[in-house]
Amino acid sequence: MIPTPTLRVISEDYLQIASTPMFRVAGKNCARIKRIVTQFEYWLHGYLGASTFPPKDGILLIDIDLNVNLNHLDGAYIINVSATEIMITTDGEQGLRNAFASLKQLIHRALTFHQGKLETQFIGDNPAYEWRGLHLDVSRHFFGVKEVCQYLDWMAALKLNRFHWHLSDDQGWRINSTRFPLLTRKGAWRKEDDGSIYGGFYTKKEIKEVVKYACSLGITVIPEIDLPGHAMAILSAYPDLACFPQEFEPLTVWGISEDILCAGKDATLSFLKELLLEVAELFPSPYLHIGGDEAPKHRWKECPHCQQRIREEGLQDEEELQSWLIGELQQTLVDAGKTLVGWDEILDGNLGSQPIVHVWRGDGKDAARKAAANGNRYIISPNKLLYFDWRAEEDPATPGAHGVTTLEKVMAIKPREYEFEDDKLLLGGQANVWTEYMPDFATVKRMLFPRVFAMAEVFWNGQCEDDLPQRIKEVESLW
Ligand SMILES: [Zn+2]
Repeated sequence: MIPTPTLRVISEDYLQIASTPMFRVAGKNCARIKRIVTQFEYWLHGYLGASTFPPKDGILLIDIDLNVNLNHLDGAYIINVSATEIMITTDGEQGLRNAFASLKQLIHRALTFHQGKLETQFIGDNPAYEWRGLHLDVSRHFFGVKEVCQYLDWMAALKLNRFHWHLSDDQGWRINSTRFPLLTRKGAWRKEDDGSIYGGFYTKKEIKEVVKYACSLGITVIPEIDLPGHAMAILSAYPDLACFPQEFEPLTVWGISEDILCAGKDATLSFLKELLLEVAELFPSPYLHIGGDEAPKHRWKECPHCQQRIREEGLQDEEELQSWLIGELQQTLVDAGKTLVGWDEILDGNLGSQPIVHVWRGDGKDAARKAAANGNRYIISPNKLLYFDWRAEEDPATPGAHGVTTLEKVMAIKPREYEFEDDKLLLGGQANVWTEYMPDFATVKRMLFPRVFAMAEVFWNGQCEDDLPQRIKEVESLW
């Protein structure tokens, strides 16, 4: 199984998988629970019907007891397989989803490798970390609703529960805005070197569709609007928001732009506040990611508006100006009931302890230590370890950018090495999938697997067990 359960005791008997599933549910059998059971039942019927090893005729009894309190992080469950039935005990929707994710793998393994014999066993399972995420950059390359939903399915099957949707960057803006229509009219399309137009965006209806689908899988969608840097798509639509307006275009090359949003102009501030509120309304998530990374300060140093803001607010320098800007936006988000999340550069000025810091630079230890010392909650995606756009193999001929992040490196991650004064501040982590060099969804899949198996295990279990490569062989055809 992947991720490996917290506790698993296998005994010598077995349950022979039969062809006709029957579900009995005790306690809290509300509409939402019924929907989760029906979803699994639908999958199971299809799977058993199409299995290469035909299950024996008869009833496969699955008993579900929701009358318990497991006192763990959301998502704990127990599976007890006896020679006559499968018993699931859990206290809510998330535990039930996780139990079904495990059962899919157990049934698949039994029918594919063991003639339909499922070992009798006890599984007691709960997550080590509450934030187990996966990111997808849809700015550098755009992926439609169908592909995003497929991505969410992959996540749910590995008990990943936070989808970080990178919706804006220098190369494309991806959400239709009622208040600022030029964002998609101009910012969603770029002219490639060969003259062709590349781009796309999601309508609000499509965003809602993805959010609803994610919710049915127990996944929270965290939108990211990257600012004040990585904002060339925004500036192409509204150039007056820059320190020195000119005609901007969404970039066609990868890298960091010197032109960023002006933090000195009141107009930029009100634009950002209105925009964030419009985005916040679309996503029920309690979190909104505002980026905050890679914002060169050359323009701010030269800009009379930015310099005036620094003087008026009594700030030390341009780094403090960025903190001031983040603070203003944070207040807007707090008023809207949201917690701000930002890349670890947001720690560079005077950051309060409310925002969640997204640790990414290097091996992440320094930023994690700094976030902990500042009292911020934080999540980790060290680029050396959890950036899946990096090559998966040492061989320079294999696909990928920057450095090398092998499966073994991901397996070796120990989140507790990122816990300092107060271990409750580390919420968990996620892998990031930057798509500069992933023009299609097949490439995304190739870069994601098998490393995502190790990442899911690390944040579910607190560490990855050495036999992961063997377990991958047993279940990978489910993805
Ligand atoms: Zn400025």
